[in-house]
Amino acid sequence: MRRRIAVIGGGPGGLTFARVLHRHGHPVTVLERDPAPDARPPGGTLDLHENLGQLALGKAGLLAEFQALARPEGQAMRILDPDGTVLRDWRPGPDDRANPEIDRGQLRDLLLGPLDVRWGRAVTAVAPGTRDGVLVRFADGRQETFDLVVGADGAWSRVRPAVSSATPHYTGVTLVETSLDDVDTRHPGLARLIGDGAVAVYGVNRALVAQRNSGGHVKVYAQFRAPLDWHTGLDLADAEVVRSRLLALFDGWSAPVLDLLRHGTAFAHRPLHVLPVSHTWAHVPGVTLLGDAAHLMPPLGAGANLAMLEGAELAESVAAAPGSRDLDEAVRAFEEQMWARAGSWAEITAAGLERLVSPDPTQALALFDEVQPS
Ligand SMILES: Cc1cc2nc3c(=O)[nH]c(=O)nc-3n(C[C@H](O)[C@H](O)[C@H](O)COP(=O)(O)OP(=O)(O)OC[C@H]3O[C@@H](n4cnc5c(N)ncnc54)[C@H](O)[C@@H]3O)c2cc1C
Repeated sequence: MRRRIAVIGGGPGGLTFARVLHRHGHPVTVLERDPAPDARPPGGTLDLHENLGQLALGKAGLLAEFQALARPEGQAMRILDPDGTVLRDWRPGPDDRANPEIDRGQLRDLLLGPLDVRWGRAVTAVAPGTRDGVLVRFADGRQETFDLVVGADGAWSRVRPAVSSATPHYTGVTLVETSLDDVDTRHPGLARLIGDGAVAVYGVNRALVAQRNSGGHVKVYAQFRAPLDWHTGLDLADAEVVRSRLLALFDGWSAPVLDLLRHGTAFAHRPLHVLPVSHTWAHVPGVTLLGDAAHLMPPLGAGANLAMLEGAELAESVAAAPGSRDLDEAVRAFEEQMWARAGSWAEITAAGLERLVSPDPTQALALFDEVQPS
């Protein structure tokens, strides 16, 4: 009998899982809440590490296609003082392929390839242990059963409650995201400031980071320590209101740096939440989690990488398991491996966030020198 395998969520983790299973000839059902691939903006660029995200793409047979799309020059990083002084100006060597950047939309399309995703299928709950397997309930009232359900449905996972009572908590750091379009033509001064990769400016308990995506698109991230309700009385949908609050928050910073906010278009509010470091659970037959659903951590360049490698590894283990008992053992072994690796990344990224948005901005520079010493 064919196994009925479903993955909930068509993000980097879920799609990598499905793509690797597909490569091994196993059918898999991908259930995604968004009504279509382009239903919402895909988000900023991702750097994929050689030993994580790129390894996963290798397992999916997509490394060459990734390399054709990726931007190794996007690894460049410039650090400024709030007064505009350049403190570091790091550029990758000509053959440096350690962490090249790719737009999320490009990565999604690459992973989608031949996959048959069921769009517009929002899952509300998952109930393991029914007579016919794991029951998945949908927002439209439908329900369906599977032998294995993989929760790759991100930070606010609806699958997670089937295995764990953990919920994300606020880190104390909020991120407000804005964008610049066509930066080389419309804002050549800012294009030079940002360079080929990213520019970061660190002040007391706040930071401003601008990162180039492909096609002259730039994402700007204002990050600051604040209570979760910092915006009480502020209309977050009103770009001008948010802009002036941010300009007040970064008051005194150099004019070119503040131009990143002055020219930004819409503003998206993203308070940073995390799951407890080393989040684990008692194994539940038929259900597992991967990616942000399992180990939401601060966005310091690891989350998508881990989600993808986990997706690839779980798919390989599932494909190699002949019987249902082997399948359960494969999932158990996968969970142990995921918890160990993600636990150490959760510690690294939690400590990193403390230093990047810190009362002592020299901590951010010191962290950069530790990870990028040359
Ligand atoms: C500003 C920022 C920058 C980042 N930069 C990087 C980086 O450079 N490198 C890196 O590795 N990571 C980065 N990250 C982290 C990265 O975005 C996440 O860790 C990664 O997207 C997690 O992948 P995932 O597949 O687990 O979940 P997600 O990407 O969150 O995907 C989950 C999917 O599930 C769907 N879904 C949700 N709920 C349901 C439901 N109920 N039913 C059906 N479908 C559902 C969603 O629509 C979505 O498509 C960054 C994060 C942020 C916020």
